[in-house]
Amino acid sequence: MSISINNQTRSFQKDQVKTFQEYVEKSLSEIMGSSFLDPRLKSPDFEIDADIRLVGETAIRKLNFEFRNIDKVTDVLSFPALDMKEGTLDSDLMPYDFSFDEKGKKHLSIGDVVICPERAKKQAEDYGHSLEREMVFLATHSFLHLFGFDHMNKKEEESMFTKQEQVMVAIGLPRNGEEKKVRTEEEQPDLSANDLHPVGEMLPHCGYCALIGRPNVGKSTLLNCISGMKLAIVSHKPQTTRNNIRAIYNREDAQVIFVDTPGIHRPKSKLSEFMVDSSFRAAKGADVVALMVDGRFGKPANVEKQAVETARKLKKPLILIVNKADAVTKESLLPLIANYSSLADFAAIVPVSALKDDGVEELMNVIIGMLPSAPRYFPMEEVTDQSEREIAAELIREQILHYTNEEIPHGTAVEIDSFEEELKEDAIDSYDRSLIKIHASIVCERDSHKSILLGKNGQMIKRIGTAARENIEEMTDCKVFLDLHVKVRKDWKNRQVFLDEFGYKQKED
Ligand code: GDP
Ligand code: MG
Repeated sequence: MSISINNQTRSFQKDQVKTFQEYVEKSLSEIMGSSFLDPRLKSPDFEIDADIRLVGETAIRKLNFEFRNIDKVTDVLSFPALDMKEGTLDSDLMPYDFSFDEKGKKHLSIGDVVICPERAKKQAEDYGHSLEREMVFLATHSFLHLFGFDHMNKKEEESMFTKQEQVMVAIGLPRNGEEKKVRTEEEQPDLSANDLHPVGEMLPHCGYCALIGRPNVGKSTLLNCISGMKLAIVSHKPQTTRNNIRAIYNREDAQVIFVDTPGIHRPKSKLSEFMVDSSFRAAKGADVVALMVDGRFGKPANVEKQAVETARKLKKPLILIVNKADAVTKESLLPLIANYSSLADFAAIVPVSALKDDGVEELMNVIIGMLPSAPRYFPMEEVTDQSEREIAAELIREQILHYTNEEIPHGTAVEIDSFEEELKEDAIDSYDRSLIKIHASIVCERDSHKSILLGKNGQMIKRIGTAARENIEEMTDCKVFLDLHVKVRKDWKNRQVFLDEFGYKQKED
């Protein structure tokens, strides 16, 4: 059994995701082990997979509207991949229900779960229990939907409720006795973060921070840490970050837009000249320049000197981030700080461990303190601007429409499950990729759509894949491996009816 969690929100932090993962694994394996589950799902020949996406209020509202025509934020949506009724498969599993991983192992997906942690947080407060319990509860509820349980009538509801609580007790998250009465829908504030914090709202601190530094010092790791999610690709190999991927950090009173530039190099070739130039450009548009260095190396080299010079020429305030503080002793940082202090007049020198999330909050306060008052540039929910990932999804979608002659309706979506870059052995920058491996899912609403998409002997999906791959290769200027997978999300289901029992009424209009 494997559950992949794709966290697309900032409101749920890395350590929370980790605990959540542990619990949902227990929850799913508890359900898998129960007697009510179809024995055909318990075969050792394949592994059961489930995907959980954590999304913001805007995203879940959009999905709720797309799939259910209800323009409201909700807590959870379930998209079963299999036809099941109360734990039993409607029919035998078919070859197309399975997929194979790189190692040749067979997998069976039971479907997707989409949860909105922000909404879960509000509900947890209403019920008077922990966010952890609420999140795991929502996932468990959703798993049961994936296995064909429902709550359309009292009898079904009772059966589902009982199973749900059994699982919650078994995994160590029972109800804590008295639960508070929940708010009714009328009392329920239905404001998304964006409604409360519109673009253009004047903020005391808002602006751009150019994050520069040589490859491998930990820039991507820092950005990921700041956003509580994976934004840019982090790797032990240098320079896996695309030019100018921006991470956006939001607070009620501040917004920081990070420009993650390629490292600064001494010009060796046209390409590295370009890279120096693009770091320069990034710094030019920024309110603050942050130079990141690796705390294990005390002496500034040309690269760092150049960065300092860039900031000086552009008259930008400069701060020094000394990363990987976890890997060195405090004392050994002193000569480093002395060396750098003699090089430039830093507005601040902040040691951090991006990896261990140590000192990062202090760093954010320092950066924010240096930003001018300005209008909010991006919506609260936005964490990054359009990436190659999203463009790749668009290119795949384009080929689906092309080859299926639009037989496939607009309910079809393309989701990029993973996007991994491999660099050439002698890569000097992020453009020196040898291969991009993309796994993507085409999500449709019906089995009939799935068979159109697959085509006879899989011919259709092959054609779509080849054409899309060629276009992605053109866009990225790199060899691409593209793995396409078709998923059916038949029936969305959610928890609203179930919540009626608690006096939580959903207005469906
Ligand atoms: P970038 O090229 O500057 O974007 O660097 P990455 O973020 O890709 O990080 C390069 C390597 O340094 C990765 O293996 C990270 O895990 C590691 N790294 C990043 N931050 C830290 C840190 O604070 N401590 C330690 N020990 N390693 C780190
Ligand atoms: Mg990077």
